[in-house]
Amino acid sequence: MLDSEVRQSLLQLLGPERFRDDQETLVTHSYDATPMLQSLPEAVVYPETTAEVQSILKLANEHRIPIVPRGAASNLCGGTVPVQGGIVVAMSRMNRLLELDTDNLTATVQPGLNTKKFHLEVEKRGLFYPPDPSSMVISTLGGNIMEGAGGLRGLKYGTTKDYVIGLEAVLPSGEIIRTGGKLYKDVAGYDLTKLLVGSEGTLALITEATLKLLPAPVVRQTMLVAFADIYGAARSVSRIVGARIIPATLEIMDQLTIRVVEDYNHIGLPTDVQAILLIEQDGQEMESVGKDIAAIKNICATEGATDIRIAQNEFEAGQLMMARRSALLRLLGSHQRRSWRMRLYRVLPSPI
Ligand SMILES: Cc1cc2nc3c(=O)[nH]c(=O)nc-3n(C[C@H](O)[C@H](O)[C@H](O)COP(=O)(O)OP(=O)(O)OC[C@H]3O[C@@H](n4cnc5c(N)ncnc54)[C@H](O)[C@@H]3O)c2cc1C
Repeated sequence: MLDSEVRQSLLQLLGPERFRDDQETLVTHSYDATPMLQSLPEAVVYPETTAEVQSILKLANEHRIPIVPRGAASNLCGGTVPVQGGIVVAMSRMNRLLELDTDNLTATVQPGLNTKKFHLEVEKRGLFYPPDPSSMVISTLGGNIMEGAGGLRGLKYGTTKDYVIGLEAVLPSGEIIRTGGKLYKDVAGYDLTKLLVGSEGTLALITEATLKLLPAPVVRQTMLVAFADIYGAARSVSRIVGARIIPATLEIMDQLTIRVVEDYNHIGLPTDVQAILLIEQDGQEMESVGKDIAAIKNICATEGATDIRIAQNEFEAGQLMMARRSALLRLLGSHQRRSWRMRLYRVLPSPI
């Protein structure tokens, strides 16, 4: 339990809606997507402004209380599990898109903004934010930044660290700092932005981020290639890259993964092969994209591909990408269901 002075100060700062220490709230903030890890916090707070975050951190620092920042808790490394108790700082109310600067191709966001929602907003303006972790339907940009999240488009476009150009952050002392910004050539001094990206909430709490955007590709082609032999699939990957072709997506799925995904999604993946490659190329013109796809087909065929399917429309392409995006969730699925049940047993007085 927090001591009553701290409890009172937080209640006064945030009100009873945004300071919670009831059992339900503590339990629902005691775990994340990491299997088999759980620990109760002493309180959960929901700040709405940088100034509130600053006050929370100052107070916690004064009283030596651990702080656990939290986005959507979809990380797989126990990053939001309060293993030493303390206060969970849930960023769900700081979820606004603050600016879409179409002249400079940047966006400024609050950390609690949902990744998928952000993608859709950006795409409405013909722009593109490449980092696409498979958890993007639930994850937040703050969580992505703190995990340095990648995604299916990482090979060609890089990962989150390549798109964060400025941050506002609150240090454990409560001091507010701003790093980087929109000016690319502003290179003097330490690169604190890069230091904070991927720091998993251990150095500071992010309250604002400026992200780089790209013009959206106009053409996309998606294909699935099946291999009876996993080495043929692996050799194809090396030969595609060696041929100076960098696909937007080049992902391998082994037989176990194919079966788990197909069992759940029923999209007609070949379950009797050892591996499939999921490949997508994009670009500004059909001619160059088509040329890459033809060359990739050729390489895969000479490496023993047993089936090469090119998506005929956006729906088919979406199904193929969804197969890969759902792979981790499906693999975690049965294990997770078991551990959820155990969590409830451990936390609640009587099992439900
Ligand atoms: C099904 C599934 C698929 C996934 N797919 C991918 C993938 O394709 N690629 C990939 O890289 N990862 C993937 N992940 C893991 C990925 O890192 C997370 O899903 C995502 O980046 C975390 O976002 P979140 O909002 O859930 O952050 P959280 O899990 O809430 O937090 C992540 C970390 O950031 C800290 N944090 C959160 N917000 C802040 C803030 N504002 N300031 C400071 N620290 C903060 C937390 O304390 C924690 O340490 C996947 C996870 C799952 C469950």
